[in-house]
Amino acid sequence: MNPETDFRDGLDKLAADYKDILQTLGEDPEREGLLKTPMRVAKAMQILTRGYFQDPHKVLTDALFEEKYDQMVIVKDIDVFSLCEHHMLPFYGKCHVAYIPNGKITGLSKIARVVDIYSHRLQVQERLTQQIKDCIQDTLKPQGVMVVIEAKHMCMQMRGVEKQNSITTTSDYSGVFNSLNTRMEFMSLLRGESKRI
Ligand SMILES: [Zn+2]
Repeated sequence: MNPETDFRDGLDKLAADYKDILQTLGEDPEREGLLKTPMRVAKAMQILTRGYFQDPHKVLTDALFEEKYDQMVIVKDIDVFSLCEHHMLPFYGKCHVAYIPNGKITGLSKIARVVDIYSHRLQVQERLTQQIKDCIQDTLKPQGVMVVIEAKHMCMQMRGVEKQNSITTTSDYSGVFNSLNTRMEFMSLLRGESKRI
């Protein structure tokens, strides 16, 4: 199944629900510009939540390689697009991952896939950060892993709750990253040429 193009069961029901929602919001779902909107939104929402039907652990276990390398591996500036579970509005930004292998490495693109799968679920940024860390820790069993996410939340910006353009940063780590020195090495490598969102 290709979750990009094959839509899941319940698509028609979802579209009908969005038609009701339009009406409840005071719109006329029969006017020309909105005729196809309920189905478009239903498809978009199935794509934005496709991560429920994908297994991030399998992505990593399918791509494990034995390797003696035991220095820090960093994948930075991974795009994150997710929906906050409180308002179902987007939050987006960058995810940075570092790990120190313990005999096994994975393809760098697989780390980005894990981020993609967890972010295509309803999330809070804190849990998203932790889930990515746990998934890498459980599958690669590295000496340690650290995940940092910097994101802007549309639920804060569009509703005017917080200063516009504020960025929320979350981090989580395990193993050797419990050492302040190791965390500082990662953070200084990140600061190097990391772009702002
Ligand atoms: Zn929110």
